[in-house]
Amino acid sequence: MDKQDYYKLLHVNREATPDEIKSAYRKAAMKYHPDRNPGNPEAEAKFKAVSEAYEVLSDERKRDIYDRFGHEGLSGRGYHGPRDVEDIFSTFGSIFEDFFGFSGGGRSRTRARRGADLQYELGLEFEEAVFGTEKEISFNRQVQCGTCDGAGARPGSKPETCTTCGGMGQVRRSQGFFSVSTTCPSCQGQGTVITDPCKKCRGRGVASEKRKLTVKVPAGVDTGLRLRVSGEGEAGSQGGPAGDLYVVLNVKESATFIRDGFNVLLVQEISMSQASLGCEIQIPTLEGERTIKIPSGSQPGHRIVRAGEGIPHIRGVGRGDFIVELRVQIPTKLTKEQKALLEKFAELSGESKRDGGFFQKMFRTIMFKIINLGTNFLKKVISPYPFSKTSISKVFWGEAWGGTFFQKRSSPQMLF
Ligand SMILES: [Zn+2]
Ligand SMILES: [Zn+2]
Repeated sequence: MDKQDYYKLLHVNREATPDEIKSAYRKAAMKYHPDRNPGNPEAEAKFKAVSEAYEVLSDERKRDIYDRFGHEGLSGRGYHGPRDVEDIFSTFGSIFEDFFGFSGGGRSRTRARRGADLQYELGLEFEEAVFGTEKEISFNRQVQCGTCDGAGARPGSKPETCTTCGGMGQVRRSQGFFSVSTTCPSCQGQGTVITDPCKKCRGRGVASEKRKLTVKVPAGVDTGLRLRVSGEGEAGSQGGPAGDLYVVLNVKESATFIRDGFNVLLVQEISMSQASLGCEIQIPTLEGERTIKIPSGSQPGHRIVRAGEGIPHIRGVGRGDFIVELRVQIPTKLTKEQKALLEKFAELSGESKRDGGFFQKMFRTIMFKIINLGTNFLKKVISPYPFSKTSISKVFWGEAWGGTFFQKRSSPQMLF
């Protein structure tokens, strides 16, 4: 149903002052008030509509949004109007008091209250979250007492009219010029007091009940997601609706897979030769074991993406991807034969164990520079003594460097 223009509903023009709007609402609310139109759904709908119009137009910020963007502007900002008539009374309770001289036309005495929402934490296995499941849960909740039907009074007895407020639920106190009306402290606004309470619920009108429920968990859910099970919260009072149950999901991590949104990552170890030569291997997937091809020359960290084999999108269609990331194992223990073969491989690849990489060469160069300086220094210091050039060098090598690494060289100068 299309919403009517708020100004038209209240029969005011767009420039109406807050006082004019209030007065227009007073007129309309009097006309359509549920207490004056019992059992008239049309009047109730009209009452809701004018109340919504008043709620918006009496609020400067909401009125500004409505003036500029209309109904969509408000709904886009999360405003959807009052839920029901009770909602209107709880929002405008004081206004009705002001309008009618008593609160809500007597409504507050029997104000229905919505039951409280409940929260339940549900643990799920990784696979259950991926593919969805049905879980039976049980929890305690407050429901209307079956013995007294929520009245709180022993069956057969009746709540008596409160003597403090005379059944009005409100008491008026005069403070100077003002007369202030407040909720009756004796009956908490109920207008009645229970003199003969129900034995089962001790007059509370509610009882605790163990509730068993099967919750349908859709595929693709993840930790922190809340599922709302409407009407499974606690019972409302005075005929109010029950609250909702929120099932908060807590999904266990998988020992095999890493979840990333709707994608699944599998870190797969392969051997050096498998990476180099290529192979076919068995891997675990969400659907069980599968054979995949590892192309020859695969590098560490290479990712093989299996599109659409990840986690189903919880809302909408399709699935995320299944990603296999390769980790290449470098062997730490080699047999003699393996070592010999790898050495042979290195030789064939033109690598030499002795003539190492850049850093080894650099280290050697620096060392020889230092040694050279040392030798020259020694030559100067010990020159008066009868040592030959060769013996000085030999002493130096043998003692300072163990004579192994540079053994083959007869003189350091040869390298420069
Ligand atoms: Zn009871
Ligand atoms: Zn009272």
